[in-house]
Amino acid sequence: MRFQPQIETVSEPASAALTVVCEGRRGIGREGLDVAWTISPYPQDAIAARLESTLPHCGVARQWFSGGDVLALLPMGGDDGHALALVWSLATERARQRLALTDEAFCAELQSLCGQQTGALRLSSERVGWPLALCQAGRWVGPGWALAGDAAHTVHPLAGQGLNLGLADAACLAKVLGEREYWRTPGDEKLLRRYERARKADTAAIAAVTDGLQGLFAQPGHVWQMLRNRGMNSFARSGPIKTWLTRRAAGL
Ligand SMILES: Cc1cc2nc3c(=O)[nH]c(=O)nc-3n(C[C@H](O)[C@H](O)[C@H](O)COP(=O)(O)OP(=O)(O)OC[C@H]3O[C@@H](n4cnc5c(N)ncnc54)[C@H](O)[C@@H]3O)c2cc1C
Repeated sequence: MRFQPQIETVSEPASAALTVVCEGRRGIGREGLDVAWTISPYPQDAIAARLESTLPHCGVARQWFSGGDVLALLPMGGDDGHALALVWSLATERARQRLALTDEAFCAELQSLCGQQTGALRLSSERVGWPLALCQAGRWVGPGWALAGDAAHTVHPLAGQGLNLGLADAACLAKVLGEREYWRTPGDEKLLRRYERARKADTAAIAAVTDGLQGLFAQPGHVWQMLRNRGMNSFARSGPIKTWLTRRAAGL
């Protein structure tokens, strides 16, 4: 927003032909719009924090799956960087226990899971806990308003798709508005329905995949573990299928 000359920040509520509510999952903008908001909580919280590693991450994102827990270390700040974003999804009670640990004990727990692939890990920020839930708005548009991003949908972070979905919403809405017939205003509900139709299906597909993966990885037992490992290894070797899915998830 800082670099867009056409954006004006106002301190008082302003009337507009179209209001896009993009205040995140907990925003109050949906209230008063008569939107049903379905919440299916996961029995997990995610711990988010920043870390520094002694080895460079080389631009590689890594995830470890164990007993339903998902530990993700995401590279930050260029290929040679040492900064990592941690997203650790684990059962609510265990998340609380991990949040209560000292920084040193917390890092020792992490290190025991990810071994020496990253070198030694050190916390460089506070740890924050987030309750996880699959959420979906019943309708995304109405006369003069549209929902976008987490205000319309949230998914489990295990596939790292939440932000991509919101960016794809913004791109799609901009395209629909840009291509509108000359007689339609930006708040025309019929026009906005084109945006809803285009994005709702994609979002539901990603939500179903991440929800299915979450359920799959939460299954205990060796048979499930073997099936998961075989599935992931086949996917990693699947070449064009992997490329197609990656591009689709990135909205390309
Ligand atoms: C632990 C965790 C890990 C995640 N990891 C990943 C990941 O690896 N990859 C990924 O793609 N996604 C990830 N996500 C999801 C991703 O963070 C969200 O999908 C994304 O941030 C949604 O963007 P948004 O702009 O819709 O909402 P938000 O990021 O919630 O932004 C909304 C903003 O609006 C502001 N706001 C609210 N109300 C008002 C108001 N009335 N006026 C003005 N401003 C207001 C809020 O302060 C906030 O800054 C993760 C989520 C969680 C919880």
